[in-house]
Amino acid sequence: MSPYDAQDPAESIADAQPALVDGFGRAVSYLRMSVTDRCDLRCEYCMAEHMTFLPKAQVLTLDELDRIGSAFIGLGARKLRITGGEPLVRKGVMDLIRRLGRHIKTGALDELTLTTNGTQLAAFADQLVAAGVKRINVSLDTLKPDLFRKLTRGGDLTQVVKGIDAAQAAGLSVKLNAVALKADNAAELPDLIVWAHGRGCDVTLIETMPMGEIEVDRTDQYLSLTALRAEMESYWTLQDLDVRTGGPARYVRVAQTGGRLGFITPLSHNFCESCNRVRLTCTGVLHTCLGRDDACDLRALMRDGATGADLTVAIREAVLGKPKGHDFEIARARPAVARHMSTTGG
Ligand code: SAM
Ligand code: SF4
Repeated sequence: MSPYDAQDPAESIADAQPALVDGFGRAVSYLRMSVTDRCDLRCEYCMAEHMTFLPKAQVLTLDELDRIGSAFIGLGARKLRITGGEPLVRKGVMDLIRRLGRHIKTGALDELTLTTNGTQLAAFADQLVAAGVKRINVSLDTLKPDLFRKLTRGGDLTQVVKGIDAAQAAGLSVKLNAVALKADNAAELPDLIVWAHGRGCDVTLIETMPMGEIEVDRTDQYLSLTALRAEMESYWTLQDLDVRTGGPARYVRVAQTGGRLGFITPLSHNFCESCNRVRLTCTGVLHTCLGRDDACDLRALMRDGATGADLTVAIREAVLGKPKGHDFEIARARPAVARHMSTTGG
């Protein structure tokens, strides 16, 4: 039992207050929570090879994560995504997911989901379903074992494919995320899409974003998905779909495979005007824009003894200051934000 169950913020606040809205009138209904900065892989575009991970004391406890997640749900968040780092390597993560799953059961939350690299899915798939998770995103950039090992600096593709098998067998709907990398996987993306669609998985392609210092040159890796989409239209029929998630993805159906394909194009085209999401780092810092340095330290507040009402006021104020849009530009020498994607949670 969480110490917060007695006075569950999701239930005590829900009807009493208006929903979270930012200064531009955008309703914020989606929280992405990073539960760890650690990972069992070291993807080249995400992390430096030798990362210094945070001391445990700086990372939110499971109780603190539950408290913030529940406060957001109390303020009207309808969707919550657990991410990282690799969420499934966080000790006790299933306990947190089960606790947050109570809001699905009460109807306060529409969707509890996670983004994972898939390496631990074989062990966790059944428990995720039991906790109320219905859909997950699995990140997979290539089906070539050697390239996978190179891109992830040591990962085993078989383990991820087994994880996807287990997730689907458990009844989870799986969407694949692939970062488009000009030098590495660009030529292979059509095969990856055909493979995924053949297994009933949607695919979303992501442009590499300039977040955190890494060893490789992002200008070499950057591939415009607007250009890739145009090229795909020379061999596939792409039918626009009217699917809006409030996120940056735009979806098409590939007539030849019957599957759905999304394009996340933060660099070649942004969709900040309809953004409905905010992000919490594993240290409790709330970022209301992935590509800006605005921040509200909820951990400091909680550890200073903030009441539920204090926390609510801080969240409302942070959301009110949500920037109009991000500031990514691939050609700039320095990353747009210093933090890595693994710290903020992708
Ligand atoms: N470890 C989990 C995973 O890989 O799915 C969750 C965290 S990971 C940071 C979330 C997503 O961010 C992954 O799909 C990953 O490919 C993507 N990502 C990481 N760094 C990125 C970058 N610089 N640009 C674009 N996407 C990135
Ligand atoms: Fe780990 Fe995910 Fe980052 Fe890859 S993208 S290093 S799996 S956190």
